[in-house]
Amino acid sequence: MAEKRDYYEVLGVSRSATIDEIKKAYRKLALKYHPDRNKGNQEAEEKFKEATEAYEVLRDDEKRQLYDKFGHAGVSGSGAQGFGRGAYTDFSDIFSGSSFEDLFENLFAGMGGFGFSGSTRTRGRVRRGADLRYNLEVSLEDVFHGKEIKIQIPREEHCEKCGGVGSDDGKLETCPVCQGSGQVRRSSGFFSIASTCSQCSGEGQIVRNPCSKCRGSGLIMKKRTINIRIPAGIDSGTRLKVSGEGEAGPKGGPPGDLYVVIQVKKHPKFEREGMDLTTSIEIPVTMAILGGEISVDTINGSSVRLKIPSGTQQGTTFRIRGKGLPYMGGGSRYGDILVEVFINIPKTLNSKAKELVKKLEEELAQSSGFFNRFR
Ligand SMILES: [Zn+2]
Ligand SMILES: [Zn+2]
Repeated sequence: MAEKRDYYEVLGVSRSATIDEIKKAYRKLALKYHPDRNKGNQEAEEKFKEATEAYEVLRDDEKRQLYDKFGHAGVSGSGAQGFGRGAYTDFSDIFSGSSFEDLFENLFAGMGGFGFSGSTRTRGRVRRGADLRYNLEVSLEDVFHGKEIKIQIPREEHCEKCGGVGSDDGKLETCPVCQGSGQVRRSSGFFSIASTCSQCSGEGQIVRNPCSKCRGSGLIMKKRTINIRIPAGIDSGTRLKVSGEGEAGPKGGPPGDLYVVIQVKKHPKFEREGMDLTTSIEIPVTMAILGGEISVDTINGSSVRLKIPSGTQQGTTFRIRGKGLPYMGGGSRYGDILVEVFINIPKTLNSKAKELVKKLEEELAQSSGFFNRFR
């Protein structure tokens, strides 16, 4: 090996450089010469090693003092030894600036499970099953009455043959690839990287004799019928949580939850406004003039009588109290029905009707003068 260069010279800093200056200088070199960015470039790899070694010594107060006093002899070996494991933490420290994290995340893309955020899965931790979302359409009548609805959910459940373990004989073996740690360390030049073991998906254990029914996954697809109680007064967008009815957890883990998201279907007759319902009715022009009574359908299938006062104008809204939707958990409190009135003016009249309307016109003209304008 060639004569070792001075560590300060390697990093391009002065002998009185601060730790920040040293870090900064190393960061620059590490990014430039990183083996993953210089595939097959022997020189870059050497430079990367050299810089890393220099940094390992100069970042450490004690080692730096020894180096300053005795040169390379003072720290001989200590720069490189035991580096493998430590590098992992040290790098997360030096690259803690977000832009560097991003860059390194890109460099390591495809290695799987690796990140500076510490997201690597811990070995043997029991994982929860996935949550499920189910969109459920209900009618306005269902909202009025409340309802129990049976829904069928296809979901992954524990295989009953192997009890969810995935093994035919109930046995699990330590993963030969990662020796049970769930992680593999890959050396890239001087750099050691931990990533999730692909053989066991980070579980640390593998199934030697896979269950014939679930093929070793411990899970099988099943349709399950679940009763959902729709409370009266429920609104679109409400999420009903059904605990423990999500997918089963892998390797016997606890299940996730089921979320039923309510969507209230459009009603041909009523529109919803909170707990009130709006609707419209047509009344004959004579009723608008003379007044009368008309039947209005309600959401529960019955009808109520609505009094139309004489002289009712087009577009007038009447309120029928207590015939709307029930308030959720509101005891016997209900919203109202709002009825908008449209006046039906006949398009054709027989001669007798025409005669009578003309008479009406004359009469109105005499009594009020209002119709004169239309002559
Ligand atoms: Zn493994
Ligand atoms: Zn099975």
